[in-house]
Amino acid sequence: MKNTYYTPGPAELYPTFYQHLQQAMDEQIGSISHRSQKFRDIYKFTDEQLRTLLSIPATHGIFFTGSASEVWERILLNCVEYESFHAVNGSFSQKFYDYAVALKKHAHVLQKPFGEGFDAAEIEVPAYAELVCLTHNETSSGVQMKPADIHKLKRKYPKKLFCVDMVSSAPYPDLDFGIIDSAFFSVQKAFGMPAGLGVWIASQTCLEKAERLQKTDDFTIGAHHNLPTLWKHYKDFETPATPNVLYIYLLGKIAEDFNRIGIDTIRKQTEEKARMIYKFLESSDAYEPFVKKEQHRSQTVVVATTHKPSADVISSGKSVNMIVGSGYGKFKESQIRIANFPATSTEQVAALIEQLKQA
Ligand SMILES: *Cc1c(COP(=O)(O)O)cnc(C)c1O
Repeated sequence: MKNTYYTPGPAELYPTFYQHLQQAMDEQIGSISHRSQKFRDIYKFTDEQLRTLLSIPATHGIFFTGSASEVWERILLNCVEYESFHAVNGSFSQKFYDYAVALKKHAHVLQKPFGEGFDAAEIEVPAYAELVCLTHNETSSGVQMKPADIHKLKRKYPKKLFCVDMVSSAPYPDLDFGIIDSAFFSVQKAFGMPAGLGVWIASQTCLEKAERLQKTDDFTIGAHHNLPTLWKHYKDFETPATPNVLYIYLLGKIAEDFNRIGIDTIRKQTEEKARMIYKFLESSDAYEPFVKKEQHRSQTVVVATTHKPSADVISSGKSVNMIVGSGYGKFKESQIRIANFPATSTEQVAALIEQLKQA
């Protein structure tokens, strides 16, 4: 019997993935040149599908990287001369901040305990911070920051560049790219693909900043995949280096499937499945939602505290081919994490709830 993966990345593959992969093999995608018209058509198609899905305007380019964490480094190198600002409340937002420190930026941080979230009203961005780094969905603790709060904060600081890590939630968050300068994700989370591709959305304003920094004496924006180089090639739907052509193709196909369903429906289904899980956790004696404030509870990665050792809950699931994620870091033994991505259906979520009742 096949497993169902409720893990937050790598995760369950989207059901149509196999047929798209077969099609790609039949079309010999793995052997085509990245300087061919066939590749340019693939890039253009994926670009169009993502633009439709996430409402990305013409002011923003869409670029491919090795993974999402690569984008942490790219955006810090390309868009920060001296100072960045980070809202940190878990392991992934912390790593984004760590990258800034490692790159010798003057990185400001607003820290919240694990399991707590950020509202716009409580965030003061230091005057000289050039880039505001927010994490829409903190995968380690199951905390989300609502797009409405992200937008409110940007309106308070319209001159600063805003960058949103939406790695474990895209395409769920309804970000307004009319005001958000940059966002990024990896394909092995909610897009239901194997790992191996990062997607970086960045605005003309980010490009202008990178071009200015590139001309600055004794300053580097990096050699590999810097924004001006990515953008120059992007104009022809090409990439500076040989990209993961197969995954760019597959991502376009999955995004097309999402568009066929419609992003509004996908968002509603996500919320409905999340409601089922949280309702169960709240009514159960064996579990409770880790995140106390409802508005901060992630819709895409649910973290539950288990009253038994979480290893028992996880192995009980495993015995019936249901794989749930363990807690993160020091919560490994007392929590489980459940991905609520488009790849898992309402029926599969209902089946997991039944299993958790018996675990
Ligand atoms: C998984 C994850 C990352 C890192 O993605 P990679 O593909 O491993 O580089 C970054 N941020 C968040 C919120 C994540 O969940």
